[in-house]
Amino acid sequence: MAALPEILPDLLDALRAARHVAVLTGSGISAESGVPTFRDAQTGLWAKYRPEELATPEAFRRNPRLVWEWYEWRRGLVAKAAPNPGHLALAELERRVPRFTLITQNVDGLHQQAGSRNVIELHGNLRRTKCFDESRVVDTWPATDDVPPRCPRCGGLLRPDVVWFGEALPQSALAAAIEAAQTCDLFFAIGTSALVQPAASLPFQAIQRGAMTVEINADATPLTPRVTHALRGSAGEVLPALLKALTPYPLS
Ligand SMILES: [Zn+2]
Repeated sequence: MAALPEILPDLLDALRAARHVAVLTGSGISAESGVPTFRDAQTGLWAKYRPEELATPEAFRRNPRLVWEWYEWRRGLVAKAAPNPGHLALAELERRVPRFTLITQNVDGLHQQAGSRNVIELHGNLRRTKCFDESRVVDTWPATDDVPPRCPRCGGLLRPDVVWFGEALPQSALAAAIEAAQTCDLFFAIGTSALVQPAASLPFQAIQRGAMTVEINADATPLTPRVTHALRGSAGEVLPALLKALTPYPLS
């Protein structure tokens, strides 16, 4: 195992003094819990489909059963996963700073499962369901043999509440994420390739507003040369080490 990156005192000072910490997480932190990416989940009978056949509004109109079943398969994969030490450390960090905003590109709900409260989901959540026609979240529906099931209000088809290719990000979530990036003192980019827009622009907005920025990632990204601190490693190793450095002596 590689040595943990050194956590410098000025990062700890900034964390202790921060009034608002914003965090952006990507697929890296989910992968540490064994949640496969979209592409990595395309195994077995799913391997023959192009992503556009499984995750676009057009695909759903053409073959709603196929798309629903693809998300059923992925919901099953997520159900087997549990939050890892990185998720848990972020939930703990939220309890220690005055304001904390967690922005995630992940759709698995593992941050909330770990205890994070102020979570902005840029790409939705595959555990949630909405009406295709009304775009309204639906929590329960009558048990039938319909695949996908039908909206109890309007009879429309139900779909996962995730952002598909070609769809816009939820406007309120994006606005809240931008506001957080522009008002935080300290911004963390964790397990994200910093390539997919518009999420990729968030750390740059934080940099522009003068926030200290920290990247935690296994590999270098386009963001790496721009951040204050680049910490190489997994979220599950680096974040608990950061918490430990923040509180060198057990409080009990
Ligand atoms: Zn409906």
